Amino acid sequence: MGTTVVKFGGTSLASAEQIRKAAAIIRSNQNGCFVVASAPGKRFSDDIKVTDLLYACCEEARGGGDFRPTFGQIKERFDAIIRDLGVDLDLSEDYAKIEAHLEAHPHRDTMASRGEYLNSKIIAAYLDFPFIDPADAIRFDADGRLDAEKTDEGLRAALKTLSRAVIPGFYGSLPNGKIHTFSRGGSDVTGSLVAKAVKADVYENWTDVSGLKIADPRIVREPRTIHIISYKELRELAYMGATVLHEDAVFPVREAGIPIHIRNTNDPDAPGTMIVPEAPAEKPDIPVTGIAGRKGFAIIFIEKTMMNAEIGFGRKCLSVIEESKVSFEHMPSGIDTLSIIVNGAEFSKHRRKVIDGINAAVKPDSISYENDLALIAVVGHGMLRKKGLSAKVFGALADAGVNIRMINQGSSELNIIIGIDEADYETAIRSIYNAFYG
Ligand code: ADP
Ligand code: ASP
Ligand code: MG
Repeated sequence: MGTTVVKFGGTSLASAEQIRKAAAIIRSNQNGCFVVASAPGKRFSDDIKVTDLLYACCEEARGGGDFRPTFGQIKERFDAIIRDLGVDLDLSEDYAKIEAHLEAHPHRDTMASRGEYLNSKIIAAYLDFPFIDPADAIRFDADGRLDAEKTDEGLRAALKTLSRAVIPGFYGSLPNGKIHTFSRGGSDVTGSLVAKAVKADVYENWTDVSGLKIADPRIVREPRTIHIISYKELRELAYMGATVLHEDAVFPVREAGIPIHIRNTNDPDAPGTMIVPEAPAEKPDIPVTGIAGRKGFAIIFIEKTMMNAEIGFGRKCLSVIEESKVSFEHMPSGIDTLSIIVNGAEFSKHRRKVIDGINAAVKPDSISYENDLALIAVVGHGMLRKKGLSAKVFGALADAGVNIRMINQGSSELNIIIGIDEADYETAIRSIYNAFYG
């Protein structure tokens, strides 16, 4: 075996006890091992993640309030870990720098990044591994988009003489030197970038579940584990809400053909989930690989007779949405009708501009909208060719009394997207799961 990249999530590193479990896993790797660490997450269900405490601290400082009580809680979390692990490390200089930053010019991303930064310092000291700061290697452009080429070069240069290191997840830097973070859960992306840079044999993503489940385990009780899944299927599920892996974590390793192995820090012997370039040829008993979904969408219905003959109709509508800074998700269309599914919160903010803009741009016969839409994706390779599969999904929803507001079939034969009322979300997920696996 060659090099392994192991990324540990927040719950896996939330306390000294959890860090000891992670360290045992790390030490069992005989060869090269690069560790990507998250900030301490929740230790119990109503605990607060350090990242959330850091955001809160930053807001307090920006609002001119007293950030010290919250910052005190953060220091206490790290100091307790240091004490319990018995590492010889004093973070008081780092704390002083962060406090000075909070007093002078609090910057959201800089503050958020300190959770992974401090936790990684502790873990590096505990393991006696070098600590590598990704601020010097992971690069974003001025608009905050990852610069994949510079990042790959930066990480390769930083890691080339090493066979092991601890690297904080979640952040890098902008061309002006300021810290910039990925979106929430972004340490998964850091792990993938490191795996690509060091040409790892495997990217192990250690979390608090024994792999990717067919449906969200917070909704379906003890769902089955998906043992093997393709990058494409995983991306669909991750994007649609299977938050076990950040949706952007797929790209870097996919380019390099490195498998991702999702594993459970609390149950290291469980097989977990392998994410591989190609789906296995046949999955005879499992037509549906996974079910995921998200709430928080709105749907705009546009009707105009002979719309299909009007060149540029869809483009004009989408331009209005783009100019209004509302994210667009799907656009199922009929002959004279078009529905556009958009981000609900953004749409609420800019509704007037969107509706007036579409009225002016395409002069529809009618335009209306509905809020509180949830989307569910039923994902699986070749699924749409399977006879009776859609009927089974829709039958299950009808039996559960769920009203379907939109259906969109992906062109890739990989998914069916169903729009329903947010209030029906959990019932819908459970009823689709039970139709196939109950
Ligand atoms: P980490 O802190 O290790 O990055 P996350 O909280 O980001 O972990 O992701 C793991 C969580 O994802 C699980 O605890 C589970 O609640 C949630 N989750 C949502 N959908 C799924 C799914 N389909 N399979 C497994 N876990 C899921
Ligand atoms: N700590 C960050 C978050 O809570 C990043 C991560 O955990 O991946 O989102
Ligand atoms: Mg995560």
